[in-house]
Amino acid sequence: MAEPVGLQVEINLEFCQGHGVCESEAPEVFRVNDDRQVELIDSAPGEDQRAAIELAVKYCPTRALRIIQG
Ligand code: SF4
Repeated sequence: MAEPVGLQVEINLEFCQGHGVCESEAPEVFRVNDDRQVELIDSAPGEDQRAAIELAVKYCPTRALRIIQG
């Protein structure tokens, strides 16, 4: 069985309005930069981040985030 390679998160920057909910929910994965746009701190977060990322996806007010792998 193949080893898991980590999660992959897709960001739609057209939707991101810099609310920072994602950063609050998963501070090891997301940060909001000075232009008020989300950035990935960790481009291949591990399983230990899944719950936090799922909360970020769920609570992002503009639905800018999506888990596309894992
Ligand atoms: S919660 Fe959504 S809109 Fe807010 S910074 Fe994160 S991705 Fe952007």
